[in-house]
Amino acid sequence: MKVAHLVLVKRLGLNQGAYWGQRLNPYEVMSACRTAAERAGWSVETIAPEPFRRIALVRPSPLPEAPNFYVSAGIHGDEPAGPLAILELLREDQWPMGNYWIIPCLNPDGFLSNTRENSIGIDLNRDFRHPKSNEVIGQIAWLTQLPRLHLSLLLHEDWEANGFYCYELNSGKHPSLAQTMVNAVSPVCPIEHLPEVDGRPVDSPGIIRPSAEPHARPLWPEAVWLAVHKVDRTYTLEAPSDWPLPVRVNALKASVMAALGAAGQRCPAPSIERQGQLPIELSP
Ligand SMILES: [Zn+2]
Repeated sequence: MKVAHLVLVKRLGLNQGAYWGQRLNPYEVMSACRTAAERAGWSVETIAPEPFRRIALVRPSPLPEAPNFYVSAGIHGDEPAGPLAILELLREDQWPMGNYWIIPCLNPDGFLSNTRENSIGIDLNRDFRHPKSNEVIGQIAWLTQLPRLHLSLLLHEDWEANGFYCYELNSGKHPSLAQTMVNAVSPVCPIEHLPEVDGRPVDSPGIIRPSAEPHARPLWPEAVWLAVHKVDRTYTLEAPSDWPLPVRVNALKASVMAALGAAGQRCPAPSIERQGQLPIELSP
């Protein structure tokens, strides 16, 4: 059945030198996330500083042995699939057992201008070593008060990619979840087939394992800060943004659920059927 899915999926061909696909209003998506989360019993926190109106969604598990999971999206303003994937997952509310901390949109100003960077040109995902942006300073203050995490998943898109891929940072203490995610995504979205992505060799199709020496890197992405301070196993998930938005949303949802399911233990919850729809209306 995998082939039947992929035959229906066509590359849009819109992305010439940048992302030119559908855009989202970050405040509408965050508001919808808040509504869905509150309905499902999550608490909502605000991430400083106030003007960005960023929210974090928090839900502790009733089980004392539950693992700690962190999921973030929207650090690049030209990557709409991540915040939408989080919105759909909140509405479906089928999270595997765990304590959750989720940030649906880290860079609202970037989404307002459809830019990777924030409103003053800082790439937030290169600002974690010596942070200068108010967004990252506020996020690090919030992250610092979290307990040690078992897994972090960072949702991204790549405007040049031919398919889904992921970066893995794993201290080696834990089993890899990368192939589990690629297997879960392959029925709903193509997998990147190139042997090298952004100058990094691919370990196996769709899986990149960069060298994890943080102090050799002058600019830290969110993943490296988390690896240094909070978590042994972190994945940066990249959906191919020249493909239809529902395909990319489904790719990110499938990879997130596969990783969380493998890292924790699935608990039953009511299901909402949503086929090929976006969770919110977008401008073209
Ligand atoms: Zn990104």
